[in-house]
Amino acid sequence: MSQELARLVEEASTIGILTGAGISTESGVPDFRSPGGIWSQFRIIEYDEFVSSEDARLEDWRRRFHMQDQLGEVQPNRGHAWIAARVADGKAKLIATQNIDGLHQHAGVPDTAIAELHGNASFARCMDCGLRYEIAECRVMLESSGKAPICRVCSGIIKSAVVMFGEAMPLKPMERASEAARNSDLYIAIGSSLVVHPAASLPLIAKKAKARLVIVNREPTELDRFADLVVHGEIGGILKDL
Ligand code: NAD
Ligand code: ZN
Repeated sequence: MSQELARLVEEASTIGILTGAGISTESGVPDFRSPGGIWSQFRIIEYDEFVSSEDARLEDWRRRFHMQDQLGEVQPNRGHAWIAARVADGKAKLIATQNIDGLHQHAGVPDTAIAELHGNASFARCMDCGLRYEIAECRVMLESSGKAPICRVCSGIIKSAVVMFGEAMPLKPMERASEAARNSDLYIAIGSSLVVHPAASLPLIAKKAKARLVIVNREPTELDRFADLVVHGEIGGILKDL
């Protein structure tokens, strides 16, 4: 099956790629739905709760700091490297990702070639004036005041740049990702359970525009029946061998 994927990659002129949490598990970042994944450890804090409750904000920040510590130690893996190589050789123009871990950038993909559909965990912004804050800065603010960080300019609530459940998705990354899906002749969804919309609609947008669709994942996904090829297995090994 990997041989078939190698052939499709070889034949393609423009490859669209969507990645989910599964591409980063080999780097040690837990995904959402696998056993031991984030959902088995944490209750979800929704956007409205974050806005209205200081306790929810403090809890969200504790998780952000925990994730920052984790991400400080992780490295991109073979899967990220394969994707970065496809961007470097010009076959892949844009990587759409549901991930917030920044590992595609660490693997060498320029920011301009990444559409982060769910934001980025490495920084934060004031919800009122938009001023950017680094997570480490927010940590100092919280630890010195005991309160959730507030903007030094306008006193607005500071929130990490991750898109929360219940929060509107940023339009621009999704627009860029949809356009890339329409313009590809091969679309590969890697390590996503393909249940979270609108990200999960990207493979179908590509398919509708006549791209061939490949799904690479350890377990079945919602969209397998639409795929021209489904490759089940560990992402790093599969991509490395192409
Ligand atoms: P998900 O957890 O729902 O699905 C991940 C899929 O990848 C699962 O089907 C799992 O079986 C598969 N998988 C995991 N490791 C694999 C491996 N090594 N090889 C092959 N398959 C593997 O994640 P999702 O579909 O991306 O959706 C969850 C949401 O959670 C995302 O939108 C994202 O915002 C967020 N999230 C991000 C990160 C991150 O940035 N790394 C981590 C956890 C959650
Ligand atoms: Zn502000």
